[in-house]
Amino acid sequence: MSSAAAALQCVTARVPAKVNLELMVGPPRPDGFHHLATVFQAVGLHDDVRVEPAEDWGITINGPYADLVPADETNLAMRAARLLARKAGIDLPVHITIDKDIPVAAGMAGGSADAAGALLACDALWGEWSPKADLEDLAAELGSDVPFALMGGTAMGSGRGDQLAPVLGRGRYTWVFALGDVGLSTPTVYAECDRLRSGRRVPQPTPSAAMMTALRSGDAVALGRALSNDLQPAALSLQPRLEEVLRTGMDNGALGGIVSGSGPTIAFLVSDTERSLDLAVALTASGAAPSVKRAVGPVRGAHIVTAVSGPRGSFGSAGPDTGHTGPAGLRSS
Ligand code: ATP
Repeated sequence: MSSAAAALQCVTARVPAKVNLELMVGPPRPDGFHHLATVFQAVGLHDDVRVEPAEDWGITINGPYADLVPADETNLAMRAARLLARKAGIDLPVHITIDKDIPVAAGMAGGSADAAGALLACDALWGEWSPKADLEDLAAELGSDVPFALMGGTAMGSGRGDQLAPVLGRGRYTWVFALGDVGLSTPTVYAECDRLRSGRRVPQPTPSAAMMTALRSGDAVALGRALSNDLQPAALSLQPRLEEVLRTGMDNGALGGIVSGSGPTIAFLVSDTERSLDLAVALTASGAAPSVKRAVGPVRGAHIVTAVSGPRGSFGSAGPDTGHTGPAGLRSS
């Protein structure tokens, strides 16, 4: 641990939700995961993950989804902090506080985002400033979507979604998310996908040329047409009312609509902010969606927003240039 560790009292990382613009699901692998070819986009719905030294390990969840998230050792943020401590040989308990705005069990990778935030924040709190590649390795151990929550932007994922390559695309896209009132468990949706496809030969997944062309040109209309998700039939089979949500969105000006990840959130792409307001009103007024969120993408991945140093602290920079995203602002308490 570097000497900077003693100077920091509290670090907050901000982490984005994701939508899969394309999710191609291949055959199951021997380890139980599926071969995936996916294109992720980070969108501007965020959780803030704050860590501070404490007597004992602990976690507090704030916000409207707090009751849906375990406040114990099983929380992905806690598992991430513990993993980093173990790997770095650190025995300094922290209290984690998550201000949660990413819907839970919604196919938006909120738990993965919190894990990425805890990794980044603890890494800074403990003065490790690990190379980006080391944090990415830990992220992949924690879950398939965690590396992307660190990276952000728009990226292609292969393997089980954890092997990433950034997509150099153009454009800023406006999204409307129709949230479900009952979550869908990711393993259940994959099991339903396997059931629906049983007896059929499932090819190895490959990204589509249409998606890459749309992203390169920044053409929202083409992107709307190229959205696709192999888990969508399974999510619709488990929650048939999602058909109506999709229909309502498409009838009210969306350029494209798709089940987000394993659902039940439906992500609608629209042309601009005004359309996003119109669609949000249409979805809620029609009763198709109990609640709606709007966001733009792509946005950056996990990054530090505040790092507060103690009375003795003289810590005034983002730390050594390790290639990962340092604090946007450091202040003394
Ligand atoms: P994904 O798209 O990565 O499959 P998801 O967005 O559908 O995931 P999450 O919001 O990550 O789902 O939550 C899945 C489950 O993980 C929840 O039901 C919750 O019990 C558990 N969980 C553990 N830690 C967290 C966390 N920090 N935030 C949200 N859920 C968590």
